[in-house]
Amino acid sequence: MQNIVLNEKQIQAICKRIGKEISDKLAGDERIPVLVGVLKGSLNFMLDLMKYISIPFYTDYIQISSYKKTERQDTVRLVKDISFDCYDRSVVIVEDIVDTGYSMDYLIRHLAIHHPKCIYVCTLFDKKLARIKEVPIDFCGVTLDRNRFLIGYGLDYNELERNLPYVYEADEEEVARLDKLSEEDYELSE
Ligand code: IMP
Ligand code: MG
Repeated sequence: MQNIVLNEKQIQAICKRIGKEISDKLAGDERIPVLVGVLKGSLNFMLDLMKYISIPFYTDYIQISSYKKTERQDTVRLVKDISFDCYDRSVVIVEDIVDTGYSMDYLIRHLAIHHPKCIYVCTLFDKKLARIKEVPIDFCGVTLDRNRFLIGYGLDYNELERNLPYVYEADEEEVARLDKLSEEDYELSE
């Protein structure tokens, strides 16, 4: 059974609200701000959010990948850097979900090298209870009150189901179905 966490209508309402918050916050900026989407998970959110921002802004994308070294230590690797000059501009990092905080901590430290005026963090989901590295969240869609694994609307399970227009919480049955799909595909490549 798919337990829907956010449907299409709720997602649009969130994008509309955050779009206005970002527009209000950055309206006074002298230089045009830059929205930096974190690939691949934030792509769906970024595309919808942009429609509701009423001030001029630039867009760029950054890609990272992370793997678990130990329970309390993640290693984040830069796959694709930004290509836009963010010097002296406000930068808004757009993420799908902040979990332990390792990825966002890395992104903030990495983007600071480009000497932006300031860095804001925007995320569709905040898994607050899973946080290990404290990171500031400036614009947030939904704060999750318990630890759960979400799929859809950019959020993947083994790279699958990013395309769904809604977000659901996976139960064992769903996970088994997706595991089976991945296994069958893997066997074909051997
Ligand atoms: P963090 O570094 O632990 O904060 O992890 C952030 C990244 O882990 C996110 O950008 C997602 O790609 C992934 N992630 C964390 N929780 C979930 C989830 O519930 N579903 C899908 N991906 C997740
Ligand atoms: Mg991600």
